[in-house]
Amino acid sequence: MNQTLTIALTKGRIMDETLPLLAAAGIEPLEDIARSRKLVFDTNQDNVRLLVLRGADVPTYVQFGAADMGVSGKDTLMENGADGLYEPLDLNIARCKLMTAAIKDVPTRPGRIRVATKYVNIAKQYYASQGRQVDIIKLYGAMELAPIMQLADEIVDIVDTGNTLRANGLEPRDFIADISSRLIVNKASMKMKHIKIQRVIDDIAKAVAK
Ligand code: AMP
Repeated sequence: MNQTLTIALTKGRIMDETLPLLAAAGIEPLEDIARSRKLVFDTNQDNVRLLVLRGADVPTYVQFGAADMGVSGKDTLMENGADGLYEPLDLNIARCKLMTAAIKDVPTRPGRIRVATKYVNIAKQYYASQGRQVDIIKLYGAMELAPIMQLADEIVDIVDTGNTLRANGLEPRDFIADISSRLIVNKASMKMKHIKIQRVIDDIAKAVAK
């Protein structure tokens, strides 16, 4: 069967850690993706191509079937919802934590606080689950600046080593979720291209387990 398979990835950390897993499944891009401005890449397999997208767009392409599979951070899946796709495999890569953070040694003030984040939906759910009333301010980057400039009392952000927080006089406070990258698959593709997709999943699963 000569079905095509389109796999959506994100440049950077996820791509760097995903390419060796794809190679273990026998899929290798024909050129160096990191050094190219192209968005679609052929691979050593005639019917397999890779797309390079913004992180938040990977689940959207997979949901609509514009890509059959993709690799997406759990944070993105939690924030944007994961309707219309399967999440068959935790790739255990790009691991980090979603946390709240605030200025070091400054106690949280009582009452309604302001929280700056790009994870608006996750933050809403988290503070509601804690019974805390907050005003959420959507930002697109450099969340650490918001408490320093008194735009917000707390932020919700991804923390790996905590160095970025510390460098800006902040400290991690409450744990929200463990994050890692997940393999996602369009539900219709999983049915229509089952043998091909299942083989890729199995090969990647073996490489992850090593
Ligand atoms: P760190 O200083 O190691 O705590 O890393 C902090 C910043 O690196 C975060 O604010 C994120 O922007 C980015 N980062 C760290 N780990 C990840 C990851 N697994 N996925 C995406 N971004 C990350």
